[in-house]
Amino acid sequence: MEDTNLLFKVVIIGDSGVGKSNLMTRYTTNEFSQDTPATIGVEFMTKSVKTEGRDVKVQIWDTAGQERFRAISRSIYHGAKGAMLVYDITNQQSFDNIPNWLAELRVHVSATCSIFLIGNKCDLEHLRAVKKDVADRFARDNGLSFLETSALEKTNVDKAFEWLVKSVYDVVV
Ligand code: GDP
Ligand code: MG
Repeated sequence: MEDTNLLFKVVIIGDSGVGKSNLMTRYTTNEFSQDTPATIGVEFMTKSVKTEGRDVKVQIWDTAGQERFRAISRSIYHGAKGAMLVYDITNQQSFDNIPNWLAELRVHVSATCSIFLIGNKCDLEHLRAVKKDVADRFARDNGLSFLETSALEKTNVDKAFEWLVKSVYDVVV
């Protein structure tokens, strides 16, 4: 069993501009871009991590601009074991759209998919529009884990992915 390779596919979805691509690049290559062109992006990036002493290859899928048209190709969801549902804490609309993203996600992934609600851009506290306790309640009511992150300042980014990977691990292994 020790040499079995584990590959976990996770998807990052949510409105355009909430920071999905930067969360992925911050976690995988420690890069952040002030101005990510919405239409340019890779399909996925991978990172190898150790979880419970096992080597796990995490494959993170980004929607690479498709979310702007709310027409996400099915291949992005296919086989996903974990998902990050991202909104921007300074953008109420991006939070109001979370139930739609969650509904779409649940149509496409298995019931055991681990889902995390992520409130990104927590460095912009002075521009906050979405209260933390409101998001926390929504997460609890819908059986999601919840964290606020900043891809810019690297706050909770590793933690969010580590928790997600651990959560997938507990389901899959
Ligand atoms: P996506 O459309 O969801 O993939 O969002 P991007 O990752 O392209 O980010 C959209 C914009 O928000 C870019 O200008 C980023 O630099 C910015 N951004 C992303 N994450 C953060 C963050 O944590 N804090 C701040 N202040 N800006 C961010
Ligand atoms: Mg993007």
